[in-house]
Amino acid sequence: MPQKDHYDVVIVGAGAWGLATAYHLSRSDPRRSILVVEARAGPGEGSMGASAAMVRDVFSSPDNRLLARSSIEFYRRAMAEHESLRPPTPLLDLYGYLWLLPERLRGPYFDLARASGGAFDAQPVDLEGLSSCPGLVPAPSRWYDGDGAVPPEPITGGLFGRLCGAVAPELLAKFYWEESRRQGVEFAFNSVVQRLSFEGREEILLHEPSKHPFSFQEHMAGRLHISRVVLAGGQAVGADQVVVAAGAWSDSLLRPLGVASGCSPRPQVLYAVSGPVVDELLEWEPPVDSIDRDRGKSRLPFVILPSGATLKPIFRPRQMWLGYLDRTARPIGTREDPGRDGRLDYDSSQLGDREGFGTDLLPAITPYLPRFETPGVHLDSSWGGYYNFSPDGVPVLIEESYGVLFVGGDSGSGVMKADSIGRLVAAKCDHRPDARLFTGESYRLDRLSYEHRAVEEEQIIL
Ligand SMILES: Cc1cc2nc3c(=O)[nH]c(=O)nc-3n(C[C@H](O)[C@H](O)[C@H](O)COP(=O)(O)OP(=O)(O)OC[C@H]3O[C@@H](n4cnc5c(N)ncnc54)[C@H](O)[C@@H]3O)c2cc1C
Repeated sequence: MPQKDHYDVVIVGAGAWGLATAYHLSRSDPRRSILVVEARAGPGEGSMGASAAMVRDVFSSPDNRLLARSSIEFYRRAMAEHESLRPPTPLLDLYGYLWLLPERLRGPYFDLARASGGAFDAQPVDLEGLSSCPGLVPAPSRWYDGDGAVPPEPITGGLFGRLCGAVAPELLAKFYWEESRRQGVEFAFNSVVQRLSFEGREEILLHEPSKHPFSFQEHMAGRLHISRVVLAGGQAVGADQVVVAAGAWSDSLLRPLGVASGCSPRPQVLYAVSGPVVDELLEWEPPVDSIDRDRGKSRLPFVILPSGATLKPIFRPRQMWLGYLDRTARPIGTREDPGRDGRLDYDSSQLGDREGFGTDLLPAITPYLPRFETPGVHLDSSWGGYYNFSPDGVPVLIEESYGVLFVGGDSGSGVMKADSIGRLVAAKCDHRPDARLFTGESYRLDRLSYEHRAVEEEQIIL
């Protein structure tokens, strides 16, 4: 429960973006009082905890590339400075991403690598280099051919991204949480924000019982400010600024205020598999020059098939996490509604649709890796969370005149951009027009607003 009844800033959500915001906000002014309210029992237990937690700087949008690259470099620096973030359980393991590309995409991806002017570090891998990959069939001869399905595209080459790999989400969450606490940030776990309210501002007249201002008070623009953050159970705290970093559940708080996030949450599932076929793939030493190696050897990277299916290697215990971005006629929205219900009983294992393994995932994998259809692969578990899609796959940062900031639209790549996002939101709370990223670039905040949005649509969403 909150210790005080008023804070300079209240952040809703201790996920990847709320945590990084708390950290950078408290660093920019240690005297500022900050409260983070989180529905779960600990930090990073929302979609962050369900994520594959991969990092990459290979994006088509220059904004995504910059935000991700700066964050990855910050995580590298944090590792160098903190023993607890180094092996045996490192914060970052940059074993790389390997895109296995059909002819249709090979040109555009290589062009992208060239056009980025070295902004991302990528190496071509030819078909001969892929020939040692156990069980890989570059030109599939068998596939699910019901419903007039089109044949899978043959792989004609690969692209290896070097500043890419995995981050340990629990270590990242713990790092931001502990450092923020050390800097004086207060955290209220097991606390659900049910609504943001204008109550308590004497100059504002409110409808009863909706607590909305009357429309004739429009002339008070700029003075119509949210002042109470109301928790389930009735307790309320005052706030000068409220940052809604509630991930997929943000609309539940924003909509009643008439604020449109413009983002669409959709469930996304991962499947953990193990067995001899997986072991064999994990033994592969691909012909690539990864940043982090194991006793001098390269290891299986994160693999992206032409169908969009992804394979994440887990070296200890020996497993593989499989995923597949599926937006075909899938409903938008979350099952949970904390604003309406006053609770957030989100259960990642319930979101893990086991049936989809056979019906949606395997048909995207087995044409290229037919052995995944044999008893040599065992489905151990599945779980899910949400991707909160922005209209263009680039984050959204908006400020309403009510003193409410919304940051969201992670589009499935929020862990890898968290540090940059935290810097942007902190700068926004300070009313600055731009923020300085860890890698030194100055970033204009209104690029991510809707009014002055100036970003290119992201083409590489995994
Ligand atoms: C299956 C899957 C795979 C993914 N893979 C990757 C990947 O490889 N790399 C990557 O970078 N990203 C990945 N992501 C996306 C990543 O998880 C998100 O981008 C990231 O978690 C977004 O951070 P966030 O802080 O916006 O949201 P979250 O991490 O979901 O945090 C929001 C927090 O707000 C809390 N909250 C919500 N409403 C309330 C309320 N009313 N009151 C109190 N608390 C509230 C929630 O409990 C939650 O903890 C993946 C996601 C999924 C589901």
